[in-house]
Amino acid sequence: MSTADDVGAGPGYTARELTVHRRPAELAKVTRALRATGRPITLVPTMGALHEGHLELIRAARKVPATVTVVSIFVNPLQFGPGEDLDRYPRSFESDVDLCREEGVELVLAPEPVDMYAPDHQIGLAAGSLGEELEGASRPGHFDGMLTVVAKLIGIVRPDLALFGEKDYQQLVLIRRMARDLNFDTRIQGVPIVRQHDGLALSSRNVYLSDAQRQAALGLSAAMAAGAHAGPAGPEAVLAAARSVLEAEPLVQVDYLELRDIDLGPVPESGEARLLVAAKVGDTRLLDNALVQLSA
Ligand code: AMP
Repeated sequence: MSTADDVGAGPGYTARELTVHRRPAELAKVTRALRATGRPITLVPTMGALHEGHLELIRAARKVPATVTVVSIFVNPLQFGPGEDLDRYPRSFESDVDLCREEGVELVLAPEPVDMYAPDHQIGLAAGSLGEELEGASRPGHFDGMLTVVAKLIGIVRPDLALFGEKDYQQLVLIRRMARDLNFDTRIQGVPIVRQHDGLALSSRNVYLSDAQRQAALGLSAAMAAGAHAGPAGPEAVLAAARSVLEAEPLVQVDYLELRDIDLGPVPESGEARLLVAAKVGDTRLLDNALVQLSA
């Protein structure tokens, strides 16, 4: 493994080595030095258990000319509620680092909770009313915790660009709003959902699913596809089409199925909209969403 100094090469440098930092202050020192050389910095925040969806974000980062790519791997306790899967959340640190290395990532930040949160940590962000809707209605405080850690990661790395998956669409919308409302000097960019060949959106939580549950979970992506297909017929038709697919799957317990505008405001009469679903399959909470083109 390289030392932190090795990554400070000039523009156009292609990394073959990677450095893992546990302590945020050490990583911040490295990114500060890199910034001084003029290299752009791109951040990909993750909770680890990396899969092709995460790798797509990393590949999008690597396309930025001459950029240093920083991947954070941190299972953020602040965004898990009581009774959620914090303790059993899948962890595969060694193979995550190998994948990052193969993808040309130069810096990994992998702190422990104690490195991120002082014992008397008190200050955090409030996601506002959108943070209480959709995912937020079932997961109180989730988006406050998520925004707090993303703001901290951006504060540590101070990236020019940070990438987030459309898979967690509400998260992406809220992070964009945070960057706007708090005047962050970091551009936020979304990356389309990566799916398996049969449509299932990749998620670290998919490992929880039994074969039968995985089969049922295909109902989510099928419902999104059916809803998108019905777009020209209008909002009611979209929801009806998606609902009928979901109702055919007894193992899928829908939490919400909603059609919103692309900023998650009320659904428009025409133009682009976003169809979003959350459901439990067994004990596993799954999300999916799709762009819907409503009648012009
Ligand atoms: P997570 O590790 O689940 O917190 O995800 C880290 C980042 O990867 C987030 O921005 C997610 O939206 C993104 N991501 C997770 N799964 C996918 C996927 N299937 N396609 C695209 N992005 C994803």
